[in-house]
Amino acid sequence: METQNNSPNEEKVEEVVEKTEYEKFIDKLLESKWSYSKIDCFKSCGFKFKLKYLDKNFVYSGSIATEFGTAIHKAEESIGNYIIKNEPINYIKIKNKFMIDCIKVKKRYSNDWITKDDYSGKDYETKYQDYIHKNMFYLEKYLKDNPNLEIVGSEVPINFKFDDTWTFTGSIDRLYRDKTTDKYIIEDIKSWPNIEKHKDELATPLQFVVYSLALAKMKEKSTDDISCQYYLPISNELASAGHKNYIEKGTAKLMSLFEKILAQEFKPAPKPLCHWCEFCRTNESAPNKSKWLCPYASVWTRERPANWSEFNFTTLEEYPKILNQYRLQHDLPVLPSESENKK
Ligand code: SF4
Repeated sequence: METQNNSPNEEKVEEVVEKTEYEKFIDKLLESKWSYSKIDCFKSCGFKFKLKYLDKNFVYSGSIATEFGTAIHKAEESIGNYIIKNEPINYIKIKNKFMIDCIKVKKRYSNDWITKDDYSGKDYETKYQDYIHKNMFYLEKYLKDNPNLEIVGSEVPINFKFDDTWTFTGSIDRLYRDKTTDKYIIEDIKSWPNIEKHKDELATPLQFVVYSLALAKMKEKSTDDISCQYYLPISNELASAGHKNYIEKGTAKLMSLFEKILAQEFKPAPKPLCHWCEFCRTNESAPNKSKWLCPYASVWTRERPANWSEFNFTTLEEYPKILNQYRLQHDLPVLPSESENKK
């Protein structure tokens, strides 16, 4: 074979090609970790996804629903862990911890605590009482009624490359194994008021698509050996999720969402739900740092339920200009442009 040697005087010229902004954007997407909530954020509003995950405007913007839900998750995780360790469940300890967590929620959202939601007709005080007196005993009863099942994990971590490209991380709330068939059931605990409100999400829940694919890989199983269900501690309902061909349909859906992200489809989707978005000025729990970042937000509030926006979206390039017009309209100082920042 012929070999070529560079003479000592011959300089090796390396071609250095600067990456374009778009190539840097792709690198950033591929390096980042994905979760169901991140992809769901894009699905609900592309502009919110951009503000949050690409511009990195991470702020804490809790709500009574998320904080009450977190308290329930912690209680359910403790109950599951006692069962996994085959120890008697210390309900008094779990109840006391839950009560302390809920007192904090009640203090922070005193008005919301006594407001009935439109779906279950219950306020949080009732939801709290229902949980400590009835619903927290669900898991023990469920296992007694289904002696073929055992819990094999609470908050089971997943780390999985979807489509060999996108790294998903997260945790499965509860994992059961059927001792007779060696099949698995993934359970996700939701603090939804009832299943009726979310029945459209049962057929192809993307969260379960990712979890099932990840679990199948971890356990070297087929996804046919895995089923999924939601448990709702507030209404004490159990609902199976992931209907016929949900893996195929969900995989196609996820791929189409990633295609849109790659195509930078970051348009805002104004709707009444903006009122709970951390980038919406009408959201009382949103910090000042974030609540003035979306000029396209719907102005909808419970008191004035009108769904319109102060500014229409044109292009992402126009956003800084529109943002400043929006700020001026609300007597806020304008923000320096990027070029001025670099000076
Ligand atoms: S306020 Fe509405 S339109 Fe704006 S980022 Fe949030 S969800 Fe999207």
